Amino acid sequence: MHVIILGAPGSGKGTQSIEIMQHFSLKHLSTGDMLRAEIAAGSALGLAAKAVMDAGNLVNDDIIIDMVKNQVQSHASGVLFDGFPRTKAQAEALDAMLKELGSEIAHVIQLDVADEEIIKRMLARGREDDNEETIRNRLAVYNEQTAPLIDYYQKAGKLSRISGTGSVAEIFSRIQQILEK
Ligand code: AMP
Repeated sequence: MHVIILGAPGSGKGTQSIEIMQHFSLKHLSTGDMLRAEIAAGSALGLAAKAVMDAGNLVNDDIIIDMVKNQVQSHASGVLFDGFPRTKAQAEALDAMLKELGSEIAHVIQLDVADEEIIKRMLARGREDDNEETIRNRLAVYNEQTAPLIDYYQKAGKLSRISGTGSVAEIFSRIQQILEK
């Protein structure tokens, strides 16, 4: 079973991914975590990605798709995609790579959180790319490039939209209901 958790930056994808992993045997694949690991390792990819991430823009599709492809091939039994796909090109590439493995996305869970709440949460989180200007740009990038995926997965009949406000446990129980169907 392959699952995508979709939502704006700061919508709680990372937190809920940890809950999901503890209850379902899925490999957690966060492209943001993978990129931060590349930065920490001082790799060429990390160096190139850092400036883009600090500005709140998206890293090049081809780089991201290559990174994901390696992981998907070695975890064909089930991946939880967190922070990927973020563009239509990434979504189409994911569909193609899963199809090659004779598989497909089972569920897309969209965490719905109001913009003001997101800004409040991200400022409290205090990550290096969480200053107010970057946050506003990341939200704009989300609305422009990632939000169209809501329609993409809705048309494919895979989308479940849930409220991303409430306690971690409340939100997780909404997710659990969908994944246990
Ligand atoms: P995240 O931890 O998912 O919020 O990602 C942090 C940053 O990494 C984003 O603001 C982007 O710059 C970059 N990034 C992470 N995942 C992707 C992706 N799928 N496509 C493009 N850029 C990404």
